Amino acid sequence: MSGANQEYIIISGARENNLKNVSLRIPKRKITIFTGVSGSGKSSIVFDTIATESQRLLNENFSTFVRTFLPRLPQPDADAIENLSMAVIVDQKRLGGGSHSTMGTITDISPILRLLFSRVGQPYVGGVNMFSFNDPQGMCPECNGIGRSLCVIMSKAVDMSKSLNEGAIMLPGYSVDSWEWNMLLQSGDFDPDKKLSDYSAGELEQLLYAKARKVKMDFAGKATNITVEGVIEKFTNKYIKQDVKTKSERTQKTVAPFISEGPCSSCHGARLSQAALGCRINELNIAELSSMEVGQLIRFIREIDDSVAVPIVKSLTERLQHLVDIGLDYLTLDRETDTLSGGESQRVKMVKHLSGSLVDVTYIFDEPSVGLHPRDVHRLNELLQKLRDKGNTVIVVEHDPDVIKVADHIVDVGPHAGSHGGSIVYEGNYEGLLKANTLTGTYMKQPLQLKHDCRQPSGKLSIKDATLHNLRNVSVDIPTGVLTVVTGVAGSGKSTLINEVFLRQHPDAIVIDQSAIGVSTRSNPATYTGIMDDVRKAFASANKVDQGLFSFNSKGACENCQGLGVVYIDLAYLDSVKLPCEVCEGRRYKEEVLAYKLNGKSIAEVLEMTVEQALDFFELKEVVRKLQAMSDVGLNYITLGQPLSTLSGGECQRIKLASELHKKGSIYVMDEPTTGLHMSDIGHLLEIMNRLVDAGNTVIVIEHNLEVISQADWIIDMGPDGGSKGGLVVFEGTPAQIIHAEQSITGRYLK
Ligand code: ADP
Ligand code: ADP
Ligand code: ZN
Ligand code: ZN
Repeated sequence: MSGANQEYIIISGARENNLKNVSLRIPKRKITIFTGVSGSGKSSIVFDTIATESQRLLNENFSTFVRTFLPRLPQPDADAIENLSMAVIVDQKRLGGGSHSTMGTITDISPILRLLFSRVGQPYVGGVNMFSFNDPQGMCPECNGIGRSLCVIMSKAVDMSKSLNEGAIMLPGYSVDSWEWNMLLQSGDFDPDKKLSDYSAGELEQLLYAKARKVKMDFAGKATNITVEGVIEKFTNKYIKQDVKTKSERTQKTVAPFISEGPCSSCHGARLSQAALGCRINELNIAELSSMEVGQLIRFIREIDDSVAVPIVKSLTERLQHLVDIGLDYLTLDRETDTLSGGESQRVKMVKHLSGSLVDVTYIFDEPSVGLHPRDVHRLNELLQKLRDKGNTVIVVEHDPDVIKVADHIVDVGPHAGSHGGSIVYEGNYEGLLKANTLTGTYMKQPLQLKHDCRQPSGKLSIKDATLHNLRNVSVDIPTGVLTVVTGVAGSGKSTLINEVFLRQHPDAIVIDQSAIGVSTRSNPATYTGIMDDVRKAFASANKVDQGLFSFNSKGACENCQGLGVVYIDLAYLDSVKLPCEVCEGRRYKEEVLAYKLNGKSIAEVLEMTVEQALDFFELKEVVRKLQAMSDVGLNYITLGQPLSTLSGGECQRIKLASELHKKGSIYVMDEPTTGLHMSDIGHLLEIMNRLVDAGNTVIVIEHNLEVISQADWIIDMGPDGGSKGGLVVFEGTPAQIIHAEQSITGRYLK
């Protein structure tokens, strides 16, 4: 192969999903941005072709023995893929990890901070493990390093002024005449008519805290062994010592009012042993530093004046600076990673890679601008450039015009979605894109229009003196019957205000977010929207058979895969591997069921239709209405049977929107609904929001997209900055007003 060709990743004849024999060259050690309408095929090129092949090649490097344990990745459908280097995907999947995973642990900053304390902290307490809440030596023995403890709210659990017969036990399951209540009485230990306040200390101890013991009881003349246990003891064992989050949502709701969560009484939330907390640098201990915002912490660390500490201080400030650079200076090291948003998670992962020493890696980003205010997009751009300048190839799927601007090379995929897409409509630099006659080129040039005929609100919903997280006594009115956009820089408090404070007051609001909706592996757009029920009925009546046959979780299902169309093979240590079912070849149904037709199509063929094709095929009013709703939210290209688990966050959000479109008089809350949407699709989304408002609903949207902000009836701008420098409402008013508001950063960008 010639030297010049080594400078490119070369793809020939790619045909994954909707790709139409795509061939292209991606320059190495440059930033290449893939753009185009949703469903045009960007992910099919970047993830299903490039990333999959890179992973497959990586697996081939292992010995035959190791390979037998690795997923057997099928070769992507392409004629050739050449010159790939190792690919690292930096996506928006949330960083899980429970309470033991924090910003500090995930970025590897905490271990360095511990090292610092073990070297220069006073008084000297020993080794580095003493400062780790994940280490038995360092963790607070009271809460095992979790920092919180749960307890039963006694005043809600028992009423001391009542007797058992009067219902003194108020915990769930103990109402008068219930099974548990009967067991207490049958045990013979308690006087059912005595008020609890009259119990002796011993009796009360027995009623509330007795350990489990077997008691012989008489049931319909038969002696039976029954376990009896103190009521608080039992509740504690069942709901406090075990993670209540593993119980059903209903159970969680029932028991929640009886449990309070507070900081651990021993370490007060610091998670560490008393010895570790006694060790200080410039009067502060490690827990106090971990709860400082990164922007402040970096200043504190720089002031440490100790020759022993110089190399440690250098490496700490370097890493902290990366967090500041990417706009995460408002976060603290002790922040639990599972409370970070998708955009924040992606940026944290990015920082991890910046500190690493890998070169000649292909980094793949999926819409890294998510959650970033226009003010902070330049920081993202700088980080992408840094990664490139270290000698890496950077591939980005992105819709934000301000990110597209920094690309060395742009690939525009289109012209439309699904079967109308799958081709490359433009390749080249930014100036060329502006001149190109493609949807992206056209929309990039369109100037923003400010909305002037804003609707008048029908009333208001008030938030009073909110102080959660960084909110500084926020009181604000949210108008009803209009479209309100809540905006502001990342970390200013938008989610805290709307998703937490507001939604706690209005739990009946319809929340349309980006969380996954895969209720089961069998869920797909048809089952989720209810179309499947109508389709089953139509097949049943056309063929005069039972509709149960057409459900792929009942008797019509392929027996080999139980209607999944795929079989899962579990592997030790690795994610399980999914292979197409050999018996039904992925069609999910038994041969005999596939023989039944509706207007010439089998049930499997119907499930393979895209929304657009199904709209042509069906005439049933209910089905058409539901399909139209999906089409309206820009999901024309999705097939009815595509597993919900393969949908992106943005697509999940839009499918939820589609199935909630017909409600009236409700409050809708949406969190960055433009995620994954191309500029040309944003107009449709706005139409839908406007339709919801015109039907009498209140729509509240958290958004950074300038086009959506410019079309709001009312804007609430949070700021002025992130974290402790935010938490205020800096502007309330219309789009025409915000561009004159000096204190509003958003207004400046809208201008
Ligand atoms: P984009 O990334 O541009 O939004 P995609 O590459 O995800 O587009 O999708 C291109 C087309 O391929 C769409 O019609 C989409 O529905 C289809 N597609 C994507 N992933 C799958 C899949 N796992 N199974 C079936 N169809 C898919
Ligand atoms: P925005 O939505 O504007 O990006 P957030 O409401 O997410 O801002 O964050 C506002 C502030 O509250 C930030 O300082 C953030 O770190 C903090 N915060 C948000 N969620 C949590 C949480 N679960 N625990 C602790 N602090 C949080
Ligand atoms: Zn503790
Ligand atoms: Zn099967």
